[in-house]
Amino acid sequence: MHPHTQLIHLGRETATAAHAVSPPLVRTSTTVFATYGAYKQAQRNQVFDAPRYGRSGTSTTFELQRAMAALAGTESCIATSCGLSAITAVLAAHAGPGRHILLSSGVYGPTRVFCDKELAPTGTQVEFFPHGADIAPLIRDHTSLVFIETPASLTMEMLDVRAVCAAAHARGVPVACDSTWGTPLFFDAHRLGIDLSLHAATKFINGHSDLMLGLVTGSADALAALRAHCDRSGTHAAPDACWLALRGLRTLAVRLERHQASALVVANWLARHPAVRRVLFPALPSDPGHALWHSQFTGAAGPFTIELAPCTEEAFTRFIDGLSLFSLGTSWGGFESLVMPAVPHHLRALAAPADAPRLVRLHVGLEDPQDLCNDLAAAMGGL
Ligand SMILES: *Cc1c(COP(=O)(O)O)cnc(C)c1O
Repeated sequence: MHPHTQLIHLGRETATAAHAVSPPLVRTSTTVFATYGAYKQAQRNQVFDAPRYGRSGTSTTFELQRAMAALAGTESCIATSCGLSAITAVLAAHAGPGRHILLSSGVYGPTRVFCDKELAPTGTQVEFFPHGADIAPLIRDHTSLVFIETPASLTMEMLDVRAVCAAAHARGVPVACDSTWGTPLFFDAHRLGIDLSLHAATKFINGHSDLMLGLVTGSADALAALRAHCDRSGTHAAPDACWLALRGLRTLAVRLERHQASALVVANWLARHPAVRRVLFPALPSDPGHALWHSQFTGAAGPFTIELAPCTEEAFTRFIDGLSLFSLGTSWGGFESLVMPAVPHHLRALAAPADAPRLVRLHVGLEDPQDLCNDLAAAMGGL
């Protein structure tokens, strides 16, 4: 089935019994069993695809997990409390004294903070490599995971996913990828070789800025260590969030198409604005990552980043405060446009704050794109 059809029909197995279109939202802490035999069988279930205790999920959780796995073209999915907990659980499941984890340098800021503040002090060797580097010489005998994100958060650099996976797999090392930007619709992570594909479903998958949720997809084998870690540490997702994410999935394709079309209008408009030095958006032919993007992704709904020409803090403040359709806030992927001034983590150390490039991340929402350009034009008048 085409993914657009899958989005409509997946995750509805428990709806039939309820004579409903959507599956019921099942909330529980305790799972009750009719017989001791059923209870014993549930306790033996190490795949956690059937009710056992609230922490391992309810039928609502399993509906979303099955739908996501099918959409990603793989066997399994684990839902966690938020995108960050999906990341930290994947890292923790592969960490340990003497183990070595390689990460692409442009990962989501909190991913790097977790590595530096939580993993490194407990004896995991954490090493970052620049996007574009050949990782083969960096892999050691005790490398336990390669963790990438593409494009890089904020700076939007691409990397060659196939080359990274080939080098890692040649040494028996699994590859995890934060695929939030691409979603399973625009980025077929497992076909490119990724073993564990991570999503902050908080963003596009839900699409309505009203929940926190993480999802990790992969084969049952690739997710085994993660599953055990989640069971031991309690990173579970709330059924309410899973139910809303299932509802978000229904419209994911149409939302992404509209986000993409509008993001291109706004990005092209910004590229011609004299106050804008560069637009960092791999979907633009002028972007240095365009060829890689084209060979690995089937679409780009944003967000993207702009680099402004140098300006005073006062002029910059007037620009941000002058926007009315772009709300000022963290996150992205919802129906509403957002703006966020950004200093990427891996550039913080390199430049004194005054020299750091003036980067602004934009998420183009579902408003009319010409209205958004007009909003930007009015606010950018003083730059
Ligand atoms: C937002 C984001 C996350 C974290 O997701 P939360 O649900 O906010 O914890 C992870 N990776 C990327 C690329 C993100 O943009």
